[in-house]
Amino acid sequence: MNKAESERLGSLFNSRGYLPVDEAQKADLILLNGCVVRRSAEDKILNKIHSLKSLKKERPKLEIAVTGCLVGEEEIEGLKRTFPFVDYFFGAGESPYWLGQEAQPRLPKGTTPSALVPIIQGCNNFCTYCIVPYRRGRETSRPTEEIVSEVRELVNKGAREVVLLGQNVDSYGHDLTPPCELADLLEKLNGIEGLYRIRFLTNHPKDLSPRLIDAIAGLDKVCEQLSLPVQAGDDAVLKTMGRGYTAAHYKKLVAAIREKVPAIALSTDVIVGFPGESEQQFQASYELLKELRFDKVHCAAYSPRKGTAAAEYKDDVAPTEKKRRLYMVEELEKKIATEINTALRGKKMEVLIEGKKKGKWQGRSRSDKLVFVASETNLQGKLVTVEITETSPWSLKGQVLDK
Ligand code: SF4
Repeated sequence: MNKAESERLGSLFNSRGYLPVDEAQKADLILLNGCVVRRSAEDKILNKIHSLKSLKKERPKLEIAVTGCLVGEEEIEGLKRTFPFVDYFFGAGESPYWLGQEAQPRLPKGTTPSALVPIIQGCNNFCTYCIVPYRRGRETSRPTEEIVSEVRELVNKGAREVVLLGQNVDSYGHDLTPPCELADLLEKLNGIEGLYRIRFLTNHPKDLSPRLIDAIAGLDKVCEQLSLPVQAGDDAVLKTMGRGYTAAHYKKLVAAIREKVPAIALSTDVIVGFPGESEQQFQASYELLKELRFDKVHCAAYSPRKGTAAAEYKDDVAPTEKKRRLYMVEELEKKIATEINTALRGKKMEVLIEGKKKGKWQGRSRSDKLVFVASETNLQGKLVTVEITETSPWSLKGQVLDK
């Protein structure tokens, strides 16, 4: 979401005559978009702002602006006091107010083969560890027609894939008149000529509907890929997290998805060291990951976020223990991903080439595997068939068979 918003803000400034430069020293304006979902992300952005102080002193005309979830309504005054050299603060998803009312973030001029499209902002869930609802507010869906026409425009500019974004995409449309579902939006987007692929994230296990599973199974452009955060494998921990489902519900849901969409690649998020998480409760998460075998696991050690309900709980799992649990999950996932990817050797895959990195073309399969290929031909934005020759837990290499 931050990336999508940064792109659109960049495009707005571009329309006002600003051009990107490759280092902060050369800039007239520095715009930072800061995430605070974990303490490490917050520390990173705060350090970055501190580091600009001397630059501002050297060049007082340099403008510095800060946005993103870092800038909550209640935080602004404190931030202004801590960073008096920052010219502007504005909240996540808002417009740079000093450019005037008509200045709205806009689509980038040039478009990448895979384009990010926010469809719903905010979240109504209030999971006890999460700061997002406090910083991004309640769920607000973008009207379907607006999204459809934006995707058409992106396709006209060269996009071949769209990634629909929301803190909880399964809530899409409930606040629209008349209300609709994500599956309705997918059906409409599936009909757009020139668009090859549709992805979306993130889903919520308590909200993902049977209709959505049918849409993934039935709509040819919807990729066989799902991001379904489980967060914990123990029911008591899930309850304290306020997630609204049990481990059994989650497993049943995964079974239903895999039955209807056998090729589905699943990724998940897990938090280890949540307040009160015992060794046994951690083992429940570990065993769930072992049993369900995800293609990708994003694991984080719990860090309290001020203002959330969980910040009031005792953060009683020692940092060394959190690290150990994190390490265990990472090692397990490395083993599972290695096994899943090794089985892909010799297989043919459809890959959308997104660009070049270190002399190799890189793209993604429908199952969201990162694939590298060597070719003298310009493959940018092309859909190619690739035979997989080498695998690692995090990426694949292959040969282009056609284009
Ligand atoms: Fe945060 Fe996601 Fe829970 Fe919403 S559903 S509160 S964004 S973790």
